[in-house]
Amino acid sequence: MKQDDRNRRQEEQTSPAGMSDVETALKELRNKIDAVDEAVVELLAERQKVVDRVVALKKAHNLPVRHPAREEDLISKRRQQGAASELDPDFIEDIYRTIIRRSRVEQASSMAGKSVRPGAKVLIVGGEGRMGRYFRRCFVDADYEVRSLDRNDWWDVDRLCREIDLAILSVPIEQTEAIAVRLGPHLPAEAVLSDMTSLKAMPLAAMMTAHSGPVVGLHPLFGPTTSTLDKQIIVAAPGRRSSDCQWLLDQFISWGAIVMTADAREHDEIMDIVQALRHFATFAFGRFLSQKQIRLSRSLEFSSPIYRLELGMVGRLFAQDPSLYCEIILASSQRRALLKDYVASMNENLEMIEKGDKTRFQEEFMKIADWFGAFSDQAMRESTYLINKLIERF
Ligand code: NAD
Repeated sequence: MKQDDRNRRQEEQTSPAGMSDVETALKELRNKIDAVDEAVVELLAERQKVVDRVVALKKAHNLPVRHPAREEDLISKRRQQGAASELDPDFIEDIYRTIIRRSRVEQASSMAGKSVRPGAKVLIVGGEGRMGRYFRRCFVDADYEVRSLDRNDWWDVDRLCREIDLAILSVPIEQTEAIAVRLGPHLPAEAVLSDMTSLKAMPLAAMMTAHSGPVVGLHPLFGPTTSTLDKQIIVAAPGRRSSDCQWLLDQFISWGAIVMTADAREHDEIMDIVQALRHFATFAFGRFLSQKQIRLSRSLEFSSPIYRLELGMVGRLFAQDPSLYCEIILASSQRRALLKDYVASMNENLEMIEKGDKTRFQEEFMKIADWFGAFSDQAMRESTYLINKLIERF
């Protein structure tokens, strides 16, 4: 193009204010985007005001924060709307899950001050411990009268137990049984006796023997660093007079938790896998990496997001307290037997490895894949979601 032509083209594309047509068009479009974004924020604020009214209504009628069916219905409607508007339904779902979670967390924090049983007196045995302190704060915030009985407070046990409505044992697993027996004679007959132990059969049996009043075993499936009870699961193992224990479960539900009722033995069997086996496998993997002196940061530079995710889970374990994990992993003889089976099963791979037997590997693989069945699809979907989130962030 000649210089004159170029100059003419430049003049044509430049608006009187010195902007090119493209710049002017871009500016207009950006102004539109700004206006849409402002409207989005205004609409979110309007939505929040409606949510506040829902909270007030729920508070007045002691209704739980979470309404899973309503949430799923809302998301599926918005997904359909998104698809009809040529927007990726997954993108719309992501946004709505964030909005809903935010609104649930706000509801839960606003409900935190709501007592299902105003004025009730709560004793936390082991109240100076990690979980003890966590639940003390929850009950104090909801205006319960909260007392703590820790290892040096037994001289004062009668006063601490006077007229209490609820006693919660939050002590090391191996001491729960003895402490239940020691506490039992001091409890008012109508007080609810409960616990937070990660095992359920043994503590529940001990509490039932120690106290003739209402008993319910609890296991919060979360630790004391959890910032909100939103969607956190608490397993409840019924002991005696469940209807008299219901207010305690309703209290957790009103804080946003999901209370799942289960038989104590079933709980322990499932926890053998969910907690003991999983944590032990993680421990063994971390131990092996450390024995081999693997250069973690270098390995991450070469890694897929899956390795980062898995290493994150391993690193997470070793960032926590060993006493907590040894209590969980080695909690019962049943668990220790299961872990021995696991180690034996690992050793069964030795021959295949030594021989480099690829056929055998594939046969085993197919057998296991068959056993996993439909769950494999779900696992693929959920882990892909996590991996994509990880890629977005790191
Ligand atoms: P922790 O060691 O932090 O607290 C235990 C408390 O019990 C301590 O304050 C200790 O002084 C007190 N204690 C010990 N002996 C006592 C006695 N004879 N009389 C009165 N108090 C005594 O333990 P934690 O992590 O808070 O765990 C407590 C319970 O909660 C355990 O049963 C555990 O299985 C369960 N739990 C813990 C977690 C967790 O992540 N920490 C999660 C779920 C359930």
